[in-house]
Amino acid sequence: MKYDKILLGHGSGGKLSHQLIEEVFLPYFSEDTLYKMDDAAVLEYPGNGLVFSTDSYVVDPIEFPGGDIGKIAVCGTVNDISMMGARPLFLSAGFIIEEGFSIEVLHRILTSMKNAALEAGVRIVTGDTKVVPRGAADKLFINTAGVGLPMAEKLPSGAGAKPGDQIIINGPIAEHGITVMATREGLEMDLSIKTDSAPLNHLVREIMAVSGEIHVMRDPTRGGIATTLNEIARQSEMAINIDENQLPITPEVSSACEILGLDPLYIANEGKILVFCSQDDTPRILEIMHKNKYGGAARVIGTVREEPRRKVILKTAIGGQRLIDMLAGEQLPRIC
Ligand code: MG
Repeated sequence: MKYDKILLGHGSGGKLSHQLIEEVFLPYFSEDTLYKMDDAAVLEYPGNGLVFSTDSYVVDPIEFPGGDIGKIAVCGTVNDISMMGARPLFLSAGFIIEEGFSIEVLHRILTSMKNAALEAGVRIVTGDTKVVPRGAADKLFINTAGVGLPMAEKLPSGAGAKPGDQIIINGPIAEHGITVMATREGLEMDLSIKTDSAPLNHLVREIMAVSGEIHVMRDPTRGGIATTLNEIARQSEMAINIDENQLPITPEVSSACEILGLDPLYIANEGKILVFCSQDDTPRILEIMHKNKYGGAARVIGTVREEPRRKVILKTAIGGQRLIDMLAGEQLPRIC
């Protein structure tokens, strides 16, 4: 390991996070499910197995347009379980609360957790609370874990991309990260920008009902679609080509990115899904996505090729080519 202390970048979800996990964490735990580096572990269990996932939330500020730390804590774990082709059922929730935190705000956060769980149809069945002295944590951190049941025998995985696959996204990118960033910095942004945080499990169930074989599903959260596509390119040992002209970005997010000097490809999403499927399945999946409230703007943004392996290449708006790497360093700490 190149560093002897943890940097903020080790929490970026990008290159340094992967280095930290691979070089420091994985050697201690020799579980195949960890080495797969998927969104959740698929465990042996009667039937088609059991899917298990966990995630912690430290977003700052804890409330922002369209959501809060509670909503993303429920939706995030619901989505990670869903990305494995499973139906999320039960969640746990752990709270680390700073002394002095407002009970009124806590009520608001819990209300949105309840609402997100109701929409997703999951139950929060076990939990934990800890309080630490003022300054020992910042306001509120939440961890959620969850279990779900696979909806098919053959499940999607980051290693499942195949040559010729099409890559579909369910709507515009970078909304969550830009919303949090703009709120944190107190920037006067277009008021229409809000987080895309959403439980995607019902959308995933519909997708799996119309296609027997989804190769990869992943939610492009921290590190944005650039980082997620790089993970998939490496896990699948394939090349991923994406087309800048096809990337859905709203004009509001686009101008916010320009003002802040940020690349939307690297900005976090909390309600987006990347689906890799055969060309034959694409029309059916697009049709079902377009009918869902979280997929109205779904479209194909790229394809999978064999060469150059493990690389992500962007065809730029003016017809050039750009190699897209994983997020390096830390662009936006505490984005989720
Ligand atoms: Mg994920």
